[in-house]
Amino acid sequence: MSSERERRRILRDAYKAERKRDEWNLLGIDREQLDGLLGHVEERLAETGCDHTLRHSRSWADACSVAWSELEAGLLADGGGCDCEVLANVDPDERV
Ligand SMILES: [Zn+2]
Repeated sequence: MSSERERRRILRDAYKAERKRDEWNLLGIDREQLDGLLGHVEERLAETGCDHTLRHSRSWADACSVAWSELEAGLLADGGGCDCEVLANVDPDERV
């Protein structure tokens, strides 16, 4: 029984690790870039608030020559439907 539990744990860990990889692949940016994105969005939101779009995320992508369509899809998949949700849900500390 304990080995069965162990087997499940291993499967679950492998699944989680793979999901994290998928999320990174989807975002198309690395950790340093994500930190830059979140810092930028946080700064802009402090100034202007969220208008329920991803305009601040987009302005960061444009400034950093990051492909927006790819990043937008990754943010949406990660629960970031607008700039404040990006800050709330796209958390680098939950990543590898
Ligand atoms: Zn918002």
